Amino acid sequence: MAGAEVTEVAVVGGGPAGLSAALAARRAGADVVLIDENAVPGGQLRKQIHKFFGSRAHHAGVRGFRIAAELGAACRAQGVALWMDTVAYGLFDHTLGVAREGTTSTLTARSIVLATGAGENALAFPGCTLPGVMGAGAVQTFVNLHRVLPGRRALMVGAGNVGLIVSYQLLQAGAEVLGVVEAAPHIGGYAVHAAKLRRAGVPIWTRHTVLAAAGGRELEAVTIAALDDNGRPVRGSEQTFAVDLICLAVGLTPLTELAWQAGCRFAYSGPLGGHVPLHNADMETTVPGLFVAGDAAGVEEASTALEEGCLAGLAAAAFAGRGGPELEAEKEAARRRLEALRSGPFGGGRRRAQEEIVKGWLKCSGGRWQ
Ligand SMILES: Cc1cc2nc3c(=O)[nH]c(=O)nc-3n(C[C@H](O)[C@H](O)[C@H](O)COP(=O)(O)OP(=O)(O)OC[C@H]3O[C@@H](n4cnc5c(N)ncnc54)[C@H](O)[C@@H]3O)c2cc1C
Repeated sequence: MAGAEVTEVAVVGGGPAGLSAALAARRAGADVVLIDENAVPGGQLRKQIHKFFGSRAHHAGVRGFRIAAELGAACRAQGVALWMDTVAYGLFDHTLGVAREGTTSTLTARSIVLATGAGENALAFPGCTLPGVMGAGAVQTFVNLHRVLPGRRALMVGAGNVGLIVSYQLLQAGAEVLGVVEAAPHIGGYAVHAAKLRRAGVPIWTRHTVLAAAGGRELEAVTIAALDDNGRPVRGSEQTFAVDLICLAVGLTPLTELAWQAGCRFAYSGPLGGHVPLHNADMETTVPGLFVAGDAAGVEEASTALEEGCLAGLAAAAFAGRGGPELEAEKEAARRRLEALRSGPFGGGRRRAQEEIVKGWLKCSGGRWQ
């Protein structure tokens, strides 16, 4: 193992949450190291070629990959140490085990922000392990990062935002999208994304599911069916299509291994994607000095990840003894922006779910239940 290094604030994950946390902590005067396993910072943003909406504070009108580049450049300009191609494989008290440049070492920090994002959910059905069945995030990586089309005739499973957006991106890349299958009775994603697909002639079949995939060495066909009120396939409704790509967009789960390892308390939250580390309004977990932000703190979207990262970065800097009285006002402003993002029909459910997580934290003290 190579040497041991020390910093004031360590951030694990270089997506919108981690980059925003690093910038906020640096602004407050802390020495910051940001770790990410990829060669280039940005996390999921690097694959997002569409323009964001919302407000100017959340980069409305700017394409995701450009936001990633801007945040990465700002980190470099502000003096954040970016450790790219580096994996944080363990967390022992305030020390991270890291693997970089072909060796392992440690990084000890006064405070740590975990912004590790989320992993894609899978779906089990006969034939689901055939080459050609893959997650929507993987398809985005192929198409938008590597310019490789993983299939020419695709079926999308899941009509949330990810499923709708990636379907459209497949069309833009020249693939045929036969349709989008959604088990729920309604489309989960924004109407604007669904409308774009419909205008392009792509049907969205709600109350439908995938029954099976078929093929020899690789995917050749898929069978779908309608679902009854009890969620069971309706006999006689089966349709089979020739496809070479089934794209799964069936939800994301927070990536929280390091928080489990650190002994954080968790709660299960369906609306936030699964088990989430309990945290307070500063994004501090039940382990003092350990913070979470972004999808790792509950799956939402890039704009909320940016604001949670800002909050966590400021609070982590304060924990490390940095910042002054103005820091409280900055945190309050970030909380207000988060509240605004979590209003309306889509945000309301997530706001209530996050409030439950904070209530859970309040029942705890210093990592122990009161
Ligand atoms: C396919 C897809 C499409 C999406 N489309 C949109 C969209 O159009 N608009 C929108 O607002 N949101 C979208 N989202 C959601 C949005 O991308 C996420 O909410 C946002 O990126 C979360 O930011 P984050 O910083 O928490 O995580 P991420 O962006 O996932 O970043 C986490 C980073 O941490 C790294 N990492 C994780 N563990 C470790 C470790 N142990 N060591 C080192 N590095 C590690 C990861 O490699 C990654 O780079 C989409 C998500 C997906 C999966």
